[in-house]
Amino acid sequence: MAEVKKRRYVVALDQGTTSSRCVIFDNNSNVVQVAQQEYKQIYPKPGWVEHDPMEIFGTQYAVLNEAIAQSGIRPYHIDAIGITNQRETTIIWDKKTGKPIYNAIVWQCRRTAPIIEQVIKDGLENYIRENTGLVPDAYFCASKIKWILDNVEGARERANDGELLFGTVDTWLIWKLTNGKVHATDYTNASRTMIYNNKNLCWDKKLCDYFDIPMCMLPEVKFSSDDYGYCEIFGEQIPICGVAGDQQSSLFGQACFNPGDVKNTYGTGCFLLMNVGKEFITSKNGLVTTIAATSDKSIQYALEGSVFIGGAVVQWLRDQMRFITEASDSEYFAQRAGDNDGVFFVPAFTGLGAPHWDMYARGTIFGLTRGTKRKHIVRAALEAICYQSLDLMEAMKKDSGIDVKELKVDGGASRNDFLMQFQSDMIEAKVKRSKIMETTALGAAYLAGLYKGTWKDIEEIKNTWQYDNEFNPLMDKESRNKLVHKWHKAVEMCKGWEKD
Ligand code: ADP
Repeated sequence: MAEVKKRRYVVALDQGTTSSRCVIFDNNSNVVQVAQQEYKQIYPKPGWVEHDPMEIFGTQYAVLNEAIAQSGIRPYHIDAIGITNQRETTIIWDKKTGKPIYNAIVWQCRRTAPIIEQVIKDGLENYIRENTGLVPDAYFCASKIKWILDNVEGARERANDGELLFGTVDTWLIWKLTNGKVHATDYTNASRTMIYNNKNLCWDKKLCDYFDIPMCMLPEVKFSSDDYGYCEIFGEQIPICGVAGDQQSSLFGQACFNPGDVKNTYGTGCFLLMNVGKEFITSKNGLVTTIAATSDKSIQYALEGSVFIGGAVVQWLRDQMRFITEASDSEYFAQRAGDNDGVFFVPAFTGLGAPHWDMYARGTIFGLTRGTKRKHIVRAALEAICYQSLDLMEAMKKDSGIDVKELKVDGGASRNDFLMQFQSDMIEAKVKRSKIMETTALGAAYLAGLYKGTWKDIEEIKNTWQYDNEFNPLMDKESRNKLVHKWHKAVEMCKGWEKD
């Protein structure tokens, strides 16, 4: 007689930039309940972005309780809690009172750009690249921690005296959920702080000294599948044992466990991550190296690159140009166009990121003729999302020396079949779209459930991982190469536009 599998559950907390979500999965990886709350974005000055840490916790705790209550699941049927979070967002709080000493400085916040300019002037760029795998930037935590310690009265003194703690959002949630018992983070989140030595796997003394950050305020760094203490819910002690930053969590949720496995998330921007295995790689093509999530106490690295304007170009067509009424209309127009009629659209609205890196480039549409119609521009915009992802993937292949057989995809815009087919044609590889759109939450659930035995091992996960559709290259090589050639010509021509 076949063994009847008992139904077990794992809860994922997905703390994102605009909302806190809670997703409950059963042991067949099905979503059984979702709860979500948006929370306040605080913009004190142009370019500054903050969140209230108490609201981050409050909304996250509320959706956790709401999801469990609405699902009707008994808390003792929940094996574990996993946490995934917006990365780099920085919080400092008082160890005794539990009160933050300043708002969370959000990853998007540009206030510390002058600190980074100084870092570059001081000649630290290469050291940072070679030891943290990152490119010096105000996104990461280092300059944000320094800013809070420099600007909140008495903060550095209190930090030196061991009264203050630093954490990314995962650390803050763990600390709050365990009633201040656990001050820890995982490798994936630590790898985005720019004070963690991703190569040697320790907090980097030289960088902490440079940014004047007392090391006593830093959390313990653990594996993504590990013991992070207990959270009491409805009288039940539930272990927290999965933690990963959002992008690494989605890499794991996409079952990208082996070197060469790649995923791309098509949201407002696109996030492409490739598992590159056990060796730390310093990118020569403008990508960053982060630590990937693992469940077997091993270290694996990932190369990471992002497209600044992904689905956002579709929003622009809809809201600014009014070419379409719904984002999904873009698929209809692109299909109807048949081809781009020679139109190439480089959506460099905020400059170009990896691998081109030109902050002075601006959005440009090439190849307009009297025959150009709305549908061609819509098509060129969608094609641009794919060309940009192709450029990142080519950079990853060069850095890692690994060929790519297939790309796993998720995110809102991945629902667009034209986009996925064109992507497959451009990368000349299979594109597999995950059945579960909640891959970020799923990754955290897998990490937690693997620790507790909800799933036996990653083989079981690989076998149950489901895709809803796959796309294979159909375009002939010559046509494909012509398009890619023209795209690169367009990219070159829009560079430096803002520079006089
Ligand atoms: P985020 O998490 O960044 O908010 P989502 O994963 O929710 O993003 O995806 C939303 C983005 O995807 C928007 O920029 C939207 O314009 C785009 N998008 C959504 N559906 C489609 C579609 N069918 N075709 C093209 N773009 C789409």
